[in-house]
Amino acid sequence: MARTADSPVLEVEDLTKYYESGGGLVDTLLGRSQEVKALDGVDLELYPGETLGIVGESGCGKTTLARSLLQLIEPTAGTVRYEGEDLTAASDDRLRALRKDIQYIFQDPFASLNPRLTVGDIVGEPLDIHDIAEGEARAERVSDLLETVGLNQRHAHRYPHEFSGGQRQRIGIARALAVDPEVIVCDEPVSALDVSVQAQILNLLADLQSEFGLSYIVIAHDLSVVEHIADRVGVLYLGEFAEIGPTEDVFQPPYHPYAEALLSAIPEPDPGWEGDRIFLSGDVPSPLNPPSGCRFHTRCPKVIQPEGTDMAQSEWRSLMDLTQRLRSADSLKAVTAVQEGVENEDLGQLSRSALDTRVRAEFGLPDPIGDREAEEVFGTALDHLHDGAFEAARTVMSDAFESPCERTDPALFDVGDDHRIACLLYDDAYPDTPTRTG
Ligand code: SF4
Repeated sequence: MARTADSPVLEVEDLTKYYESGGGLVDTLLGRSQEVKALDGVDLELYPGETLGIVGESGCGKTTLARSLLQLIEPTAGTVRYEGEDLTAASDDRLRALRKDIQYIFQDPFASLNPRLTVGDIVGEPLDIHDIAEGEARAERVSDLLETVGLNQRHAHRYPHEFSGGQRQRIGIARALAVDPEVIVCDEPVSALDVSVQAQILNLLADLQSEFGLSYIVIAHDLSVVEHIADRVGVLYLGEFAEIGPTEDVFQPPYHPYAEALLSAIPEPDPGWEGDRIFLSGDVPSPLNPPSGCRFHTRCPKVIQPEGTDMAQSEWRSLMDLTQRLRSADSLKAVTAVQEGVENEDLGQLSRSALDTRVRAEFGLPDPIGDREAEEVFGTALDHLHDGAFEAARTVMSDAFESPCERTDPALFDVGDDHRIACLLYDDAYPDTPTRTG
């Protein structure tokens, strides 16, 4: 359903959630604590009748965002306005009343239904809590709700364990619908279900939206889930939006490099999509200590080269990977990612040329590196490594191979109508970068 009104039903500004983390024993003894930056200044709007998809890998802050919206967890900062009213400032009583309008569908239909209650009581519970119906009216409403989600009134007397995953998610949807909500936050609504059942549940959500004029926020780690259901998509990375825009725009160039990698992983791409699968190096970094500048720079295939450098992008990425590894590694074993069976001392016995071979193989670096100056820097760093001088190797590599993406946190740049991308490739300050795509 397209956006139908100019005034958002839900408006989120600068939503932030930091968790205190005690760190290790020393930190605890010294009274030091660190902050896990699960969500860092997110803005979004949801319009009546609209579906906004929020996607990203696990650990990118999607569920924290979903729960902060409903104040199921208390945000550290920011506001969430529902029809103009700030939920973050609402009293507990007011929040309870407002939750009638904003419902939540949980990821795991197996865990989210009380196994000791009948389906009738599960679906009827919100009617009791909000004093909506009792007696015969309640039974009738429950029966109607079950029919609405494709079940029937006989199911009201059964228990959750008697149902399949898809049926349980239908029960969860009926429970959310019971109070006649305006907004439903669907947290990975189909990820626990068989592929064959996923489409049925997504179709049911779409039908219910048309019938009741609902607005959805659909959280998913899989872009293909939101592709057909969302009007707009926000791509979240380490607690920040990397890209947000109308679905058809997010699914075609210009791309944020992270969104492009997620799109390339969709198993059955659109016929028009001819790109190859883009593999990202490593996992999402810890939100305890997010990377400086652009948070995606530690994995970005298009990470920008410094002014005056114009080497093959894959070689540049590999050199960045080696530089990053050196920053966190304090042994040859860690640099070469040798995990088992080889002691650090054994690696110390490696000849200079054997170490060279091992490091090039680990980081996919050719011999020689295409850029002569880069090859020289690499050689010097390797000399230091061979001598066990980690700090010197770190310094040589860090000084030579520093991307602008490490220094500058990109704003969300307008790249189209209502389409924004947080990437320096779209900043006019980098017009001639060799990796610019759009
Ligand atoms: S700013 Fe740099 S690291 Fe971040 S997405 Fe853009 S090119 Fe990649």
